[in-house]
Amino acid sequence: MYRGRFAPSPTGPLHFGSLVSAVGSYLDARTNGGEWLVRIEDVDTPRNVTGAASHILHTLDLYGFEWNGPVLYQSSRFEAYESALETLRQQGLLFACGCSRKDVVAVHAGTCRHGLAQEMEARSWRLLVDDVPVEFVDQSEGHLHQEVLTETVGDFVLKRVDGLYAYQLAVVVDDAFQGVTNVVRGSDLLASTCRQIYLQRALGLPTPKYKHLPVVFDEHGEKLSKQTRAQPIPMEKQDAANTLMKAFAFLGYRHVENMPTVDDAWRWILNA
Ligand code: GLU
Repeated sequence: MYRGRFAPSPTGPLHFGSLVSAVGSYLDARTNGGEWLVRIEDVDTPRNVTGAASHILHTLDLYGFEWNGPVLYQSSRFEAYESALETLRQQGLLFACGCSRKDVVAVHAGTCRHGLAQEMEARSWRLLVDDVPVEFVDQSEGHLHQEVLTETVGDFVLKRVDGLYAYQLAVVVDDAFQGVTNVVRGSDLLASTCRQIYLQRALGLPTPKYKHLPVVFDEHGEKLSKQTRAQPIPMEKQDAANTLMKAFAFLGYRHVENMPTVDDAWRWILNA
């Protein structure tokens, strides 16, 4: 059974780039007769914005998305993340790191791999990586992606200096917990996929299929994001229908203007 998901971080309202990810994963799920889940990735608590999660859910509803089952909040999942860390610890794959951010050059050199130097305190927890290439075939281009983690990211952080669980850990534990079979998301996350696959293998979890969608850039050539102050998508009904049509067009469908409602837009695309 196909099961997809949309996993926004509640750091602000949805912008056009996040809408494209939501639409891309929703269409893939619906056209495969699958389920589609929503997960609020509020694991990085200092970045959460009050009210953003409910605003995102309201926006998805207004845009005509229908999700299966209850919304999962990562802030309710800390025990599951801790127990995943414990599994890794028992296998000798997790180690305490005493490096501060400035000690860590681009690729973590494995300084603390063999135990902390005496004057060091444990600051974060890292996963031991190896030099076996991690590979996957991306569903959108059929391209083979390959990465040797010791060369690209090194032993990466699973529990941060501030005690928070890393996105990489939370996303892997929750995709498995929710039985996600197909991950469709922006290609800005391609850089994380091999780490996630490596972690799934270390935890004995299945690897979903991955499809990465083109990223939306603004007129200055920057990726739309909250950091670059991307505009929230409109909440008026007629504008929502047209914005949805623009998202379809961005994903390669014919552009049709003046779709009266979001329901008409979905009917048009799902019967296209
Ligand atoms: N929460 C992530 C974001 O908003 C998405 C994670 C994912 O789709 O794997 O960028």
